[in-house]
Amino acid sequence: MKKTILYLAAAGFCLMACKQGGETKTIAPPDSAAIKMINESSFAEHIRVLASDEFQGRKPFTAGETKSINYLRAQFSRLGLKPGNGDSYFQEVPMVELKSVPESKMIFKGAAGGEVTANYLTDFVAGTRRVQPAVILNNSDLVFAGYGIVAPEFKWNDYAGLDVKGKTVVVMINDPGFADSTLFRGKNMTYYGRWTYKFEEAARQGAAGILIIHDTEPAAYPWSVVRSGWSKSKLQAEEKDNNMSRAIVEGWISMDIARSLLKLGGQSEAIFAAARKPGFKAVDLKLHTSLKITNTIKKSISNNVVAIIPGTKRPQENIIYSAHWDHLGIGEKVNGDSIYNGAVDNATGVAALLELAAAFQKSAHRPERSVVFVSFTGEEQGLIGSEYYAKHPVYPVGQTVADINMDMMGIAGRTRDIVVYGYGQSDLEDYAEVSAKK
Ligand SMILES: [Zn+2]
Repeated sequence: MKKTILYLAAAGFCLMACKQGGETKTIAPPDSAAIKMINESSFAEHIRVLASDEFQGRKPFTAGETKSINYLRAQFSRLGLKPGNGDSYFQEVPMVELKSVPESKMIFKGAAGGEVTANYLTDFVAGTRRVQPAVILNNSDLVFAGYGIVAPEFKWNDYAGLDVKGKTVVVMINDPGFADSTLFRGKNMTYYGRWTYKFEEAARQGAAGILIIHDTEPAAYPWSVVRSGWSKSKLQAEEKDNNMSRAIVEGWISMDIARSLLKLGGQSEAIFAAARKPGFKAVDLKLHTSLKITNTIKKSISNNVVAIIPGTKRPQENIIYSAHWDHLGIGEKVNGDSIYNGAVDNATGVAALLELAAAFQKSAHRPERSVVFVSFTGEEQGLIGSEYYAKHPVYPVGQTVADINMDMMGIAGRTRDIVVYGYGQSDLEDYAEVSAKK
């Protein structure tokens, strides 16, 4: 779950009135009439309905989805917002569920003889994004590529001069700032440090496989988290190419196995220290491996909900307010109750979205830019609805000025603080800071 929290709906509202692009971030006085429209009792009523047992925990593809998206459509329509996707309030998000099961043993062979055997779940996990009944990694050479990062803005390229076609790259988790605070953004991990990025970059480089070395401290979670996350089926947005541009095999290996591989390939752990410094050159590990992965494939369609208030002066430009509507559905009983109602996560965010829409509609000041309200599906399964929107935007990304996302509104009462996750990635936080200081 991505927990991006804006504690105050009013603070989000103020961001609209900020001057754009100026050196000083002056904030126009908030439209107090509009803010008064943000109504506590209707806010609570939206939460009561969305989190009721009748909505069954709002899991995608269930009756709970139908009820949730129809409720949103009815509310946007009642408030007089226009359908946001042509003449529809819905954006279909085709999804595919993959249950990848690799062979139980992954065997690494040394060019000069010898081998290391890794056991599934204990020593390695592996899956594929390719939507095929089975995929095979065949005698693929292993290359240690440091952090597996190409970041021109930080003058860093672990793939410089390297051809990894058909090969399997072995990389470290996190980014260079973790070990050396003068590099990248120091301890504030950039997207380059995330495992999702490392898989994407390996695919761009044409690698056949990628294995991330697990290391508890820089990963920030133990092997047990990797293991449980990778033994479940995964839901993803369905793409036309069936993800054939992705690497054949994506996975993790334990630090113990990584050490054994280095030894077999005639390397030492000094390679890790070298890879943390600028200018490191990738190392051929003189090992190769093969792996077959079998998939169970299931396809279904879910929906993002989109509504719009057209702008008065610059309608082609837009600002998005978003909040995911989905939650976990029905699962294991807790105190005799099997419905995971998701009142906080994220009926509160959706209720805030509807209250903001109502406030904009009732305000005497019509927004100059279009204001788009999007409620995403599939957040709990890995940000699927928002990822799909980003790849298939209803409104051009180049004309989208900002997206203020609400995931779980504060429930601790009034607060003076705004928490920014991923600090340093967006200039929106400068406006938020000015608002918070008031
Ligand atoms: Zn959430």
